[in-house]
Amino acid sequence: MWDHYMSNMSPSKNAHEVLKGFVSLIGAGPGHPLLITRLGYERLTACDVIVHDRLIPCELLLDARAGCELVDVGKIPGQTRIPQDFINTILIEKASRGLHVVRLKGGDPSIFGRVGEEASALAEAGIPFEIIPGVTAASGAAAAAGIPLTQRGLSSCVSLITVHEDPGKGGIGLDWRVLAQSGSLALYMAGGKTREVGQGLIEAGLPPATPVILVQNATLPDEKKWIGSLLQLSEGHIPPAPGAPFIVLVGSVAGLTLPDLKRQPLSGKSVVLTGPLSSEKEGLPGMLRLYGAEILFCPSIEIVPPEDARPLEDAIRNLNFYDWILFTSRNTVDFFFECLRGLGFDSRKIGHCRIASVGATTSKHLMKQGIRPDLIPVAESTGACLARELIAGETVRDRRFLFPCSEIAGVDMSDLLTQAGAQVDRLTAYRTITRRSDWPCRRRLIESGCDGLSFASPSAVDGFWEILGADHASRICRAGQVFSIGPTTTRSLAEHGVEKVHQAPRSSPEGMLSIILETLASPS
Ligand code: SAH
Repeated sequence: MWDHYMSNMSPSKNAHEVLKGFVSLIGAGPGHPLLITRLGYERLTACDVIVHDRLIPCELLLDARAGCELVDVGKIPGQTRIPQDFINTILIEKASRGLHVVRLKGGDPSIFGRVGEEASALAEAGIPFEIIPGVTAASGAAAAAGIPLTQRGLSSCVSLITVHEDPGKGGIGLDWRVLAQSGSLALYMAGGKTREVGQGLIEAGLPPATPVILVQNATLPDEKKWIGSLLQLSEGHIPPAPGAPFIVLVGSVAGLTLPDLKRQPLSGKSVVLTGPLSSEKEGLPGMLRLYGAEILFCPSIEIVPPEDARPLEDAIRNLNFYDWILFTSRNTVDFFFECLRGLGFDSRKIGHCRIASVGATTSKHLMKQGIRPDLIPVAESTGACLARELIAGETVRDRRFLFPCSEIAGVDMSDLLTQAGAQVDRLTAYRTITRRSDWPCRRRLIESGCDGLSFASPSAVDGFWEILGADHASRICRAGQVFSIGPTTTRSLAEHGVEKVHQAPRSSPEGMLSIILETLASPS
């Protein structure tokens, strides 16, 4: 395997170039998208092809490189499994073409993950590979239940058991007597067989009062727990929802569960984020997760550079011509400064210009460039309000304003300023395009909806309608709570027929979080 690395090695090559014709067999963890290892995530975000199971956090797929091929080989419950040989062939075939293939599996790939079969098929075909471990479901379930899997003086070993054995063997085929002598038991794939498990263990000599915890969807926002005894398990007193994966933990450790684990205010609530992925990954998702929400990333738009950047470049070269620069979105700030740096300048170039910023997020991005805005509108975070407060504060007549903006930015601000005698040069700094690629959670959103939807720009509203189609988009918005970053986005939602909209008190991720908490949080 090292030959492979050595032949591809050069100090300037990145993982993508080095790992050609290579397979990474990676554990994605039990469900929470952040429970993948850093190494696994690094591979996932750099590879050419991801061959994935069904039980993986679908959000991870959004972080794949642009152009990365996604192959779903997951088994849908009740349907036939894709044969293992077929999956092996896909891995071999793709890697033989020189691609870096990630095989992404739920939990840890070496625990009931068939990694052995895949690894030996790859070895036989002469394909180099690596195995990157993951958090197995038993660990996720124990953490969710607030118990250890082993405990000094109580249980000094833990067995990981699959209840769903090879169908060829007939029956469950486990030796309950051996298991009854073991320490803690973590039973995987026990769907439809929990009574049998309970009965088998009691008959093999375990006391009927032995503590049992069943954890379903461990580490996911809709995680559920059932705490009882082996007797109750054997009598069928457990309520797992059909389809969702669960683990049964048996033994004294299961009796250590804490009476009331802290629930977060947004636990069990799902929130759709519709902005461009790069900006949606900053700020709000982290805060929502902290409060326990599940996030469904539905990036409806993408931000791309203008088709022709020359007018903006010329304006930047001649910045001494302008008195003010007006920024009405964080994207403008990012693209403007990227363009400025691309021309070989730095922030000093705008030194003599005064700077207006529409609101908190735009100002934060300006501060990142070392620029403190001279004006932020007080009444409302809109371009029109910015113009009004500018006009009220000083003479704008004959002053020169540079307004770098998106191709589709509104005209209110520049119209008001022009009417007041100002000279406004409106130049395209970026374009917003509808994101075409499929969202991993699209089907789930259409079938089950969500609790909340967050919109941070009119173009995200338009993109959401375009991607889902008006019927689905309107229905999903009617069934959930709709959140808007500010008045312009609220108006755009109204144009699409969404009347009940919760508008953020400030146009910033923090403002969005506060309105989401106010509306969706369960009373503590
Ligand atoms: N390799 C995986 C196990 C695959 S077998 C691992 O290491 O976790 C699939 C079984 O794992 C399911 O039937 C269920 O018993 C368990 N499982 C997977 N994800 C789970 C989750 N989030 N919560 C509870 N059990 C889970």
